Amino acid sequence: MNTDLLAGKVALVTGCGRGIGKAIATTLAQSGADIVVNDIDVDSAEKLAGEIAALGRNAIVCCGSVGDRQAVNAMFTTIVEEFGALDILVNNAGITRDNMMLNMTDEEWNQVIQVNLNGVFYCTQTAVKMINKQTSGRIVNLTSVTGQTGNLGQVNYAAAKAGVIGITKTLARELARYQITVNAVAPGFIDTPMTAAIPDEIKQTVIKDIPLGRAGTPQNIADLVKFLSSDKAAYITGQIISCNGGLYI
Ligand code: NAD
Repeated sequence: MNTDLLAGKVALVTGCGRGIGKAIATTLAQSGADIVVNDIDVDSAEKLAGEIAALGRNAIVCCGSVGDRQAVNAMFTTIVEEFGALDILVNNAGITRDNMMLNMTDEEWNQVIQVNLNGVFYCTQTAVKMINKQTSGRIVNLTSVTGQTGNLGQVNYAAAKAGVIGITKTLARELARYQITVNAVAPGFIDTPMTAAIPDEIKQTVIKDIPLGRAGTPQNIADLVKFLSSDKAAYITGQIISCNGGLYI
């Protein structure tokens, strides 16, 4: 465990009560960062904050939806009060509301766009106002293989995740002058509560298409985010880095 890698850094990980976000928050804390724990689920957020504190890092809980502009504003006010600044933003929170295009309701469409796309806009715009005052910073967005290839029944999710790729590339150009890097991680099929809901026979079909022959773990994604959040990745920006076992080559 190299606690020097991110020592003295403050990282906000959205939606980190479970799954990939939890692995990211824990890994960044193990690397020395203090963590702002965000989720809509208060219990899981508080439990994780306790685990991070047990690692010897500072952790504050800021619950609320990333898709709610006012909740995001309140979260960043708390971050300024508690930590004074932010070094690393990981836009991880995401949801699915799957349906084939012809059956998709406005509600299913809007919910996914609100959290997975507008939520990234709200958090990033607010964070940049804080990070800008420093001369370095890291933004890591969670997109998806679905944003790269499309996927049956996920037109809302694919649109949002492809939008996140557009945000990443544009913001990398806008923030380069401040030495702030902006990258996205594109997971393939990762074993989390989100994918646990998928019926077994569909899971097996997906796994058959993965050259490495297995689902990824949240830790696979967390290790990549740790690297992108560190000084070691200072010359990488505007990139969409796949972590998918070869699912999309
Ligand atoms: P998950 O459903 O297991 O966990 C998501 C977390 O986000 C939960 O703790 C949930 O409470 C929280 N959350 C949901 N809505 C929120 C909101 N509005 N505001 C704040 N928090 C909210 O999901 P996961 O599999 O860990 O996925 C994490 C990210 O990785 C998502 O952006 C997802 O789209 C992306 N991703 C996942 C996979 C995969 O195979 N699991 C693949 C590609 C991309």
